[in-house]
Amino acid sequence: MNRMVLAQLPVTDLKGVGAALAQKLSKLEIFSLQDLLFHLPSRYQDRTRIMPIGSLRPGVEGVIEGEIKGADISMGRRRSLVCRLQDGTGTITLRFFHFSAAQKNNLKTGTRIRCFGEIRTGASGLELYHPEYRRVDEAEAAPVEESLTPIYPTTEGLNQGRLRALTDGALAYLADGSLTELIPEPLRQQWQLPPLNDAVHYLHRPPVDANQTQLLEGYHPAQRRLAFEELLAHHLSLLKLRQRTRQQGAPVLIATDQYQKAFLHNLPFPLTGAQQRVSHEISADLAEPFPMLRLVQGDVGSGKTVVAALAALQAVEGGFQAAVMAPTEILAEQHFINFGNWLEPLGLKVAWLAGKLKGKKRQEQLQAMADGSAHVVVGTHALFQDEVVFANLGLVVVDEQHRFGVHQRLALREKGRTDHRSPHQLIMTATPIPRTLTMSAYADLDCSIIDELPPGRTPVNTVVISDQRRPEVVQRVQDACGQGRQVYWVCTLIEESEALQCQAAEVTAEALREALPELRIGLIHGRMKPAEKAGIMASYKAAELDLLVATTVIEVGVDVPNASVMIIENPERLGLAQLHQLRGRVGRGSVESFCLLMYHAPLSQQGRERLGVMRETTDGFRIAEKDLELRGPGEVLGTRQTGMISFKVADLQRDADLLTRVKQVASQIAIDPQLSDAIIQRWLGRDEKYAAV
Ligand code: ADP
Ligand code: MG
Repeated sequence: MNRMVLAQLPVTDLKGVGAALAQKLSKLEIFSLQDLLFHLPSRYQDRTRIMPIGSLRPGVEGVIEGEIKGADISMGRRRSLVCRLQDGTGTITLRFFHFSAAQKNNLKTGTRIRCFGEIRTGASGLELYHPEYRRVDEAEAAPVEESLTPIYPTTEGLNQGRLRALTDGALAYLADGSLTELIPEPLRQQWQLPPLNDAVHYLHRPPVDANQTQLLEGYHPAQRRLAFEELLAHHLSLLKLRQRTRQQGAPVLIATDQYQKAFLHNLPFPLTGAQQRVSHEISADLAEPFPMLRLVQGDVGSGKTVVAALAALQAVEGGFQAAVMAPTEILAEQHFINFGNWLEPLGLKVAWLAGKLKGKKRQEQLQAMADGSAHVVVGTHALFQDEVVFANLGLVVVDEQHRFGVHQRLALREKGRTDHRSPHQLIMTATPIPRTLTMSAYADLDCSIIDELPPGRTPVNTVVISDQRRPEVVQRVQDACGQGRQVYWVCTLIEESEALQCQAAEVTAEALREALPELRIGLIHGRMKPAEKAGIMASYKAAELDLLVATTVIEVGVDVPNASVMIIENPERLGLAQLHQLRGRVGRGSVESFCLLMYHAPLSQQGRERLGVMRETTDGFRIAEKDLELRGPGEVLGTRQTGMISFKVADLQRDADLLTRVKQVASQIAIDPQLSDAIIQRWLGRDEKYAAV
């Protein structure tokens, strides 16, 4: 039988499904019978037995049956129809806030009914609000359900009964094995994966004795079987993307030592062992005839910029240009200054582009990129606008990748693309990405880790303190500045509005100026002109300011070694990764540093736990794992990238333990491209997302 048969049968093949219903189903991404089978219940109801009324407890859902012992209109706070139902073991109240005259007539004393609903505690003891019900005759031994009743995620105008009937229709096809088993038998045996058809059937119609808790939590072997295959599909599609990238050509960039040697010689410090190791990995990649796709993870302050500069120099030595893209203007400017200082003494030209660069200056920079006179180009996302043309782009460096969407980085790669060649890509991030996420969302990248900080750093002491103790904190700022240290004061706001955040920073700066008149206090926020921001940063760096009040714009990259105290207001509003980034601004020099997390009481349990993590560790990877545990992958990766890892069944966190196995099985299956494609097709189907990029 054809492998894809159920994927090819449209839902309209089912009896009674016309265009209107198909339209509703499409809102649930259900187009084929296979889609219907993979549309799994989110929970189940137990309608398999009748529960004695005397045994009911609040919160329980179930079927009860009994005789109506009286029905009245109650006028309480809201008018309602109230019936007393009795079964010999006890009595319960059924309450209807909306009811018709016919309904009222139906529910007369002496009538026998069977109902289903959730038991609650109401005005008269145990009650059921608006239960589903139907009349039963004394004689009728009408069966209750034989399996647990599935409750499906649904959409407006599509009720559970309809979805159940539809899945009944689709499940009938399973009987003849129409849903092809794609994981080869030996692999299934080896990893003890139940057959696909059994798993699907089980999840739609679990038997009476199924372990409901396990099902609800998603740990049932049948669910794990599907999650496994789904993760496998994603992994295979990333392997395919990677293979495809490898088939493209790339400029072969051989290090000649023409510039790298002098650059290293001029640096005031030797590279750390980790910087050397990662630079060698990059260097080897650049010399290959296919594009590098390498992710460098290194904690804040680990010295990624130098590593990027070495890579850029290798591109230049190989006769190509390098582009360095940073997520904010401040950071781009700082890179521009650094690269200028490093590269200009070597006789190289560094160009600069940001959104706010206008007029003649912009034209000059664009010209230098296009005619090749600029060797290295530094900028913000302005670099991938249409008007930007590179003479011969050989390497793209993306700093702080988490701030960019995947598509932005790919757009920049397009800039350097010719018919037969793509530029190399180096992606740098200080947000450590938990291993589980690297294995799924970033499986198309090679990974290097700079796991060593330059010598002479002292770890930051982190203190969690309530904002009720603000006066003490202000005193501490004064003391630190009195000793010649510099301080950051970071304002955060829950609102996304940058305007409000800037306003809060202005108010705080004003209050601090009043409280600490002897200090030189600066203010920096996202609404200032780049030149203004650069001016403030420059005077802070030159120690002409003691205290810098800032919004989270200083999050990435800013480097002022003499700053040794940071106050973060309302840290409970930020993600752990972001807090870690911020905190990385201090502890860059050799004096002891402090980070005061000044929360607003009361803290939630989760808030307390998260700030506790910050106090206990400065290890970015541990923090990232914890963040993932507490907030889930969507938040950790940022919304832009969540689309990349949305799963039907799998849950990266819950199923993280499957990933190693998935990886092994994927490498065995990838040998058979047809099989691999069938699995990818089944799960990623019409939007094989990675194929497009
Ligand atoms: P990040 O990884 O956060 O981007 P940077 O590249 O900004 O870190 O480096 C942080 C600081 O450490 C800079 O002042 C840089 O000059 C310095 N630095 C980088 N590498 C070394 C090293 N091997 N030894 C001493 N200082 C270094
Ligand atoms: Mg950096």
